Amino acid sequence: MKNMHNITSTASAPAPPRRTRPPRVDWASLAPRVASLRAQGCSTRETARRLNMNIKTLEAHLRRHRIRHAIPMDRPDQVRRTCLNCDTAFVADGRFLRLCPECRAMFS
Ligand SMILES: [Zn+2]
Repeated sequence: MKNMHNITSTASAPAPPRRTRPPRVDWASLAPRVASLRAQGCSTRETARRLNMNIKTLEAHLRRHRIRHAIPMDRPDQVRRTCLNCDTAFVADGRFLRLCPECRAMFS
């Protein structure tokens, strides 16, 4: 039995430095301001504008936040939704509801 190990050079391929992107937004100080603006009824867009930040950045943050503080759903037919009108997270009683209760009341 011969040992025919081919030592393939794994080190030759220069791997790009894989590091997580440094946080460009200081959420620790920004999150309370975001929360208070949202509490005042500001939409995501409005909140982003007031804090002078990218809406995409804020949306990504809010998505992460929402997953962590997910609204508990007690029925299987309930769907987690974001209001089409004001971006508020809410739990809809059915998949066809796209507006939060407040906006639904406003439009009906
Ligand atoms: Zn709404």
